[in-house]
Order: sequence, then C-alpha cells, then structure tokens
Amino acid sequence: MKISISVLVLFSFFIKVQSQELPLQLDSETYSFPLNTESSIIKEELLSHIQFLASDKLEGRKTGQPGNLVARNYIYSYLETLHLDVTLQPFSFERKNKKIEASNIITVIEGTELPKNYMVITAHYDHVGIGKTVKNDSIYNGADDNASGVAALLVLAKYFQKNKPKNSLIFIALDAEEMGLQGAKYFVENRGDKNMVLNINMDMISRNENNEIYICGTRYTPSLKKYFSNIPENTFPITFTLGHDGLDGKDSWVKQSDHYYFYKNTIPFLYFGVEDHPDYHKPSDTFENIQPDFYFEVVQFIANTIADLDSKIK
Ligand SMILES: [Zn+2]
Repeated sequence: MKISISVLVLFSFFIKVQSQELPLQLDSETYSFPLNTESSIIKEELLSHIQFLASDKLEGRKTGQPGNLVARNYIYSYLETLHLDVTLQPFSFERKNKKIEASNIITVIEGTELPKNYMVITAHYDHVGIGKTVKNDSIYNGADDNASGVAALLVLAKYFQKNKPKNSLIFIALDAEEMGLQGAKYFVENRGDKNMVLNINMDMISRNENNEIYICGTRYTPSLKKYFSNIPENTFPITFTLGHDGLDGKDSWVKQSDHYYFYKNTIPFLYFGVEDHPDYHKPSDTFENIQPDFYFEVVQFIANTIADLDSKIK
C-alpha cells in the first residue's frame, strides 16, 4: 500500500513536470524596441479610460449588475470607434443556485504575415460591485483591479490597429473573473482550432509603492525566460521581476487570474500584475489611488513587449 502510493505520487509528479513546458519559438531572444513612438500610447487617453471604468457610476462592475453593462457598452463602443469588428460572446453559469448571464467582448486585428497565429491579449472588466461599507463607502470601484488592465487593452487595440501586427491579435475584455475566471474558461474552451501561440493577461497593473511589476509564466516557457532575462538593467524606469510562478518561494499566481485557463489548455502565457496592496478588494481601490506615471510606464512596456514578440514569434 505504502509503495503504491509513493509510486502514484511519483507518477503524478512526472506527469506534472511533463505537462509543464509550454514552448514558444522566437527568432531571437534579445529584447528590442519596435514601439513606434510617433503614434504611440497616449497617457491622457489611458487615464481617461481607467477613470471612467472606475467611477462610482459603474457601481463596481459586478457581473449581472447594471454597472457591468455600462462598462461593457463603453468597451464595445470604444472599440467600434477604432473601426474594429467587435463581437459579444455571451455565456452563463451557475453560482449559488442562480443562473448568471455574462459576456466577453472580443475583437481581432488580423496579422499581415502570419494571420493564422493568434496572440491573445486579455483583461477582465468585471469587479465585485457593491459590498460591505468601509469608511462610509460601499462601492468597490476596482480601479487597479481591473479597470487598469481594461484601459490598457483599449489603448493597445488602438495602437495595433494603426501599427498592424504580423501575427493576428485577439483582444478580449473578459467577464466574470471575480466569480471564478468564468469568461476565460468559456473563451478558451470554445476557441475551436485556432492556433493560439501566447496569452498576455493584464490584471492589476497601475500601482506599486516600489514601482515593481511581476511577469508570471516564464517558468513554463524557456524562450520567454531568456528573452526577459536579457534586458539590461535600468532600461525601463520601472522594475519588472519574473516570478510568482511557484519557483521563487512567493505565492504562485498561476491560478490567480484569467491566464490560468490558457495555461490549463497548454497555451503559453505571460501575466502582468502587481503585488496585492492595502486597497485590494476594498472600496478604496479608486482612480485617486493609482500611480499614473508608473501605470503609463507599465503599459508602454507591455505595448513594446507585444510589438517585439510579434516580430519574433515564428
Ligand atoms: Zn482582478
């Protein structure tokens, strides 16, 4: 009995290790700077999107509630103004014996050279809504979590609509992350036979007192680990650290946000996010408490990274 259990444990360990590598072929593993600064990311636009999405009017964007619908309409309409084809992907799920209706918002920018390769850029637009009152405030605005990721997604869509990628880019504002990553689960499980080469997920990217952002996921993809490790120090005014993926003694974030369903379905992923802060899942996660300069630098870094990886993916 004892032996068979340890054999089983060993066997499952073997399976786990075997399933861990999610390869991505790059032409070069040296980080470079293709971001076109002429028509680059505009800070005021980024801030105006996050300010609207985190405003009290949206009542914390809880899935199934009116404020979530206002956010959905805002994202949808904005992407349409970029002359993109925007699709809603409705889905429903059971929660506490109730059926909840939700919807992802999807748009695709077709690649000029490798249109059948898809890089999938994601950020969840839902948050936790109205809740327990703290210091006379009951609206959980979710500015960092995750109006920040969605505002970034919108400016990235604008950038790549003007500066066409080689691979196709799918942009998805995901719903119902806070109810168990439901939007990501639905999207990934219904992706058909599309060749998804990489997921880039943004969730909480607008503040950190040490100006530090984590990149989680390179553990599984050696080419990406090398790629980021090759950046000379002080290249960016922010610090980015590879980790939180189970090898550095910190909490693993592999299952913490929407990238998990990509990982689970063997699609390489990069998750950009900050450490939890005192306002995490509190009514005080507001626009006033983000760090605009840090946030803008992070979004430029992500934009450059997508542009660069797009030019290097085989
Ligand atoms: Zn989140």
